[in-house]
Amino acid sequence: MTTRRLYYDDSFQDNFTAQVLSCQPMADLVAGQDSTCWGVLLDQTHLYPTSGGQPNDLGKLGDANVLDVRDLENDEVLHVVDRPVAPGKVDGCIHWPRRFDHMQQHTGQHLLSAVFQERFGLPPVSFHLGESVRTIDLRGPQPTPLVLEGVARAANAIVFEDREVIVRYGTAEQFARMGVRKQVERAGTLRAIEIGGIDLQPCGGTHVRRTGQIGTVLLRGCSKMRQDWRVEFLCGHRAEVAARRDADLIARVAEQMKCAASDLGASVERLVAEREAAAKKLKTMLPKLAEAEAAAFWRSQGLVEGTLRTVVQILEGALPEYLQVYATALVASEKVVALVAVRESGAILFAQHPGSGCDMNALLRAVLDQFGGKGGGSRDFARGALSDPGKIADALAFGRALVEQELVRSGTV
Ligand SMILES: [Zn+2]
Repeated sequence: MTTRRLYYDDSFQDNFTAQVLSCQPMADLVAGQDSTCWGVLLDQTHLYPTSGGQPNDLGKLGDANVLDVRDLENDEVLHVVDRPVAPGKVDGCIHWPRRFDHMQQHTGQHLLSAVFQERFGLPPVSFHLGESVRTIDLRGPQPTPLVLEGVARAANAIVFEDREVIVRYGTAEQFARMGVRKQVERAGTLRAIEIGGIDLQPCGGTHVRRTGQIGTVLLRGCSKMRQDWRVEFLCGHRAEVAARRDADLIARVAEQMKCAASDLGASVERLVAEREAAAKKLKTMLPKLAEAEAAAFWRSQGLVEGTLRTVVQILEGALPEYLQVYATALVASEKVVALVAVRESGAILFAQHPGSGCDMNALLRAVLDQFGGKGGGSRDFARGALSDPGKIADALAFGRALVEQELVRSGTV
């Protein structure tokens, strides 16, 4: 038996009385369903089932909480509840803030779609009214920032004019003659929503009575989605919440940047330029610093030319790029093998002077096999990272032992 949908004619009614026609465990109704909920059929309902892109209502049937509302194929509405509902009369109510939010977003979506299509020649191909994101997908050329601003201005102007939103019934032919925005090929009586002077669109959803109730319409960016353009939007209360959060964020960032919110753009631009300049400067200074530190190290060690030396060093807080230039500076002298690492990150780097006669890549692999991690390189230069930075000292000691054994075996010492 078809469920009478009371929301078709009055989407502002938030409570109702109905006859319970049946109540069965969901596990008996749909295979694989949770056995802790029940499916209830009523003779009539104000609870909206997920359909036409609009999410379902929540609410109560007597003491039972409505967890989901579904549209069944035979035009029945199934109410999924958390406990059984007794046969006979039941009082139902809907969670009004959630429903009104859906109404604001849904009428707002009709209005935006009409403005995109009628005023800017960008026909909507689909839309999505999700819990967290609401989008309209458009076909055609990329909407420029100017077009998006124009759409937002036009839509909000219609909101401020507080035009009537009317529910109409008629056949597909009648609606076609009235200039419906998107024709449907369905027989019988259809329902359509008219926004005075701008839109007529077949729809079974719940809508506000006047455009003023949509509240502010806010467009929040446009991105490419396959061959279409996806525009994110927010209406009414959601737009107000988003604008407030944005304002809070801007105020916090401006405070950190020690500037007025209106100067934030210029301040961030300056900061990025300064950061790029500093990075460039650091890049030119790193090799000089590494050479100086390597020279100081060798002075303290008393390097004897022609003798093989294995250097093991764990650096504290060094940049990854410094590790590389420092190791390069260490092995500038002949017959030096440098095993260096960064304590915090577990980054390791093995380098040798080409005349040292070892294989850094093979050495790194042996160390990683033993201690875990990843990396690779060439005969003279190999880099990687240990999975556990706590094993750095043991890993380097193990590497040093291998270098020394291999050298003994190859007879270079
Ligand atoms: Zn609709």
